[in-house]
Amino acid sequence: MDLVPTRRFVYSDADLDQHEGEVIEALKARSQQPIPDQDQWLSEKAPEAGILLTSVDKVIDWARSNALWSVVCFPACCAFEFISTAASRFDISRFGMEIIRASPRQADLMITAGTLTWKMAPNVRRIYDQMAEPKYVIAMGACGISGGIFQSSYGVVPGYSRIVPVDVYVPGCPPRPEALLYGIRMLQDKISKAKVFRK
Ligand code: SF4
Repeated sequence: MDLVPTRRFVYSDADLDQHEGEVIEALKARSQQPIPDQDQWLSEKAPEAGILLTSVDKVIDWARSNALWSVVCFPACCAFEFISTAASRFDISRFGMEIIRASPRQADLMITAGTLTWKMAPNVRRIYDQMAEPKYVIAMGACGISGGIFQSSYGVVPGYSRIVPVDVYVPGCPPRPEALLYGIRMLQDKISKAKVFRK
């Protein structure tokens, strides 16, 4: 589209105005319809052909968030609520989590179900270090968040966040299975927005 003046020199304001008007009218005459979307055929043909368009990031994040494998980390009473969450009534296998791993190398999630003592802390850190990347931690219960009722004890770690990076906190003493499931869903939501491939 030629929008520059056709004449080399324009001296008077009237000439300038007239020429500008001619250019605008020409552009207006050629712009009666919107410019068609070049990719329109994709959105029309892809569903007919059974093609799903998405990004690699979305596929990886979807797969990762729906296949979290938790490592065993049950040092105290919150463990029973975790066990209840895993059993048939609440059934975390609905979220792709039915496999609780005894080996940290086969796990990418640590759910800290119980009070942590300083004596046990190095082992928890070692387990975390041996987990597969990317890895996540859910601090379950008041003890997991801050040491809970044992916070002032000389032997209790005042929260797992002193030892490992925590992604989601689930309060309660102990938290009910519904609360833990909510925390798991929050973590899945976080993972589904990770965009690891782009990074
Ligand atoms: S938060 Fe309550 S239930 Fe959980 S480990 Fe601590 S004392 Fe036990």
